[in-house]
Amino acid sequence: MEGERYDFHSHTLLTDGSAMPIDMWHHAVLLGHRALAITDHLYGEDPRPMMTRLLADQEAFGSGGLTTLVGVEVSMLRPDRIAAAAKAARKAGAQIVIVHGETPVEPVPPGTNRAAIESNEVDLLAHPGLLSEPEAELARAHDVILELSSRRGHGLGNGIVAVRALAAGAQLVVDSDAHSAHDLIRQEFARKVALGAGVPVSQVERVITETPQKLLKRLGRA
Ligand SMILES: [Zn+2]
Ligand SMILES: [Zn+2]
Repeated sequence: MEGERYDFHSHTLLTDGSAMPIDMWHHAVLLGHRALAITDHLYGEDPRPMMTRLLADQEAFGSGGLTTLVGVEVSMLRPDRIAAAAKAARKAGAQIVIVHGETPVEPVPPGTNRAAIESNEVDLLAHPGLLSEPEAELARAHDVILELSSRRGHGLGNGIVAVRALAAGAQLVVDSDAHSAHDLIRQEFARKVALGAGVPVSQVERVITETPQKLLKRLGRA
């Protein structure tokens, strides 16, 4: 029971990925994607050069049945600088803003999850790691989507993210955090990531299809 795949988190050669945006989008089409966002890392520098390039590549790619989004993953910043960086990215043309959450495998500044959620400038908190109950509640209240990651390392937090998001009523999606075309996943694998994280069978479709569709709509791209 394959379906169309939605992925809101990937990287290119513009930061630490290994393919150009257009390569990523062509591979996404091959793998049955309905939407793929490129969200290259932003560390607090001027987002305009990167966004200008991403927007130009998006225009060059066209559509071809795939919804492309370009944006940023605000990464490793002091929490008190996250909101301003997200805002600057949006102003530079970012169509989606995500934040590099407190993954168990990297020294992400403590307080990043909460600052991202409370900023009201962020669409999605990537790999939140050992998400706390209050953070899950805040994510629901601020309508910030939480991510289950198919990426090695980051995915180690998926279980607790799923449990706490479901208990709080916060929304979940499954993203690849692809750094190359080979990291992109098919819908069938996304289903396994959700199930493996503990999402009940009855709620898997919501995670891998309905919430992504709602997010696209909110971003004005449905
Ligand atoms: Zn990240
Ligand atoms: Zn990433």
